[in-house]
Amino acid sequence: MPVSGLPPYDTQNIFARILRGEIPAKKVFENDFAFAFHDINPQAPTHVLVIPKGPYCSFADFSASASEAEIAGFIRAVGTIAKDLGLEAPGYRLLANMGEHSGQEVPHFHVHLFAGRPLGRMIPG
Ligand code: 5GP
Repeated sequence: MPVSGLPPYDTQNIFARILRGEIPAKKVFENDFAFAFHDINPQAPTHVLVIPKGPYCSFADFSASASEAEIAGFIRAVGTIAKDLGLEAPGYRLLANMGEHSGQEVPHFHVHLFAGRPLGRMIPG
């Protein structure tokens, strides 16, 4: 269910096509709720994208419309991925862009997982 005033889910968005296997991706993790893969243009030594399997445009859409099982499954998957990549001790950053002011480019909800060096300030400037 799209957020009121925003466009509906675009089934041809790049992450939907990756989920369907139409476009290759370097897979990190997959279960019933989440799929994770390396970002094509990494902004840190580790830059993984974690996406839900369901058709949600954004965090706003996912948080409002996903089932509790989908939300719990997705959040647990993010934690598992970070742990399995050995990132808990050095630390990592999660980021989710939502909408125009955030610069969200791909309209399928995704969490960025950054790690591998000190990551600096949360927001530039
Ligand atoms: P956003 O700005 O929407 O939060 O982030 C979208 C991210 O998707 C960007 O970091 C961008 O590099 C990544 N991206 C865009 N197209 C592809 C693709 O085809 N494959 C992969 N692996 N990442 C992509």
